[in-house]
Amino acid sequence: MTVNHFEHLKGKTCVITGGGGILGSSMAETLAAGDINLAILDINPDAAATLANRITGEYQVKTMGIAANVLDKKSLEDARNLINQELGSIDFLVNGAGGNSPKATTKAEEIIPDMDGLWENTFYGLDMEGFRQVFDLNFIGTLLPTMVFTTDMIDTGKGVVINISSMNAFRPLTKIPAYSAAKSAINNFTQWLAVHLGKTGIRVNAIAPGFFLTNQNRFLLTDENTGELTPRGHKIIASTPMGKFGNPEDISGALLFLLSDLSEFITGVVLPVDGGYSAYGGV
Ligand code: NAD
Repeated sequence: MTVNHFEHLKGKTCVITGGGGILGSSMAETLAAGDINLAILDINPDAAATLANRITGEYQVKTMGIAANVLDKKSLEDARNLINQELGSIDFLVNGAGGNSPKATTKAEEIIPDMDGLWENTFYGLDMEGFRQVFDLNFIGTLLPTMVFTTDMIDTGKGVVINISSMNAFRPLTKIPAYSAAKSAINNFTQWLAVHLGKTGIRVNAIAPGFFLTNQNRFLLTDENTGELTPRGHKIIASTPMGKFGNPEDISGALLFLLSDLSEFITGVVLPVDGGYSAYGGV
């Protein structure tokens, strides 16, 4: 006899923010394959709608693509009303919206003697507006949807929130201080909220993906013209014990495990899916 440990997920409803993105689409597909109804939220309406249409055509689940901004509470509340009307109450939330921007990235990895006129390439030249945008997108963009989409879970006394962290949360990578600080804040918030909601039946965990080649980092890790690894890409591969980048589908097992009752006594953890990157001391 075979046992399907994920059978109880069938017919549940999950909201996934940033669902039109690379990791978001892959996670949405995993959920649809597990017969979980989906509300795919994205600031890019076409990305959300295209994915929702594809999933509706391929899987036996109800799927909605909704344009929503994770930094705008009203737009999230409007989305929740639509979801409640179409799909009923919300069981799961995956906070997938996030990313970095060149506006919050230093050109120089570190300050060296004789920087001459190049200070604008360092910490001292960081554009505060860009910094705030990236920090807010990742951190406030996790906090606000959690505030809006877990109220149904409070009512039903059961639910799961999955935040999407990063390797930067454990130790920051060079050049991207806003993104690193925000992902670190997500880890801290994951623990804080797990405690705060500990007796409500809602579990709060995070997945920290290692390095996946996606829109966000493609041209930091590979050369735009040749497709060859950049020096930074080489460093990452050398620091990943499994010696490769991840595929978006590599997240699916961790996602299903943390959503399912297999993990019913697990809350407040950050699970790396990183080919060993976070375990490696570099020597
Ligand atoms: P992606 O850019 O492909 O997807 C992000 C999605 O979020 C996009 O569809 C975008 O339109 C949407 N979005 C942006 N701003 C939004 C807003 N204000 N409101 C709603 N949606 C918004 O990026 P990805 O690589 O799929 O990353 C997904 C998540 O995984 C992010 O949180 C990212 O930080 C994290 N992550 C990615 C990697 C990686 O290697 N790609 C590694 C670690 C963590």
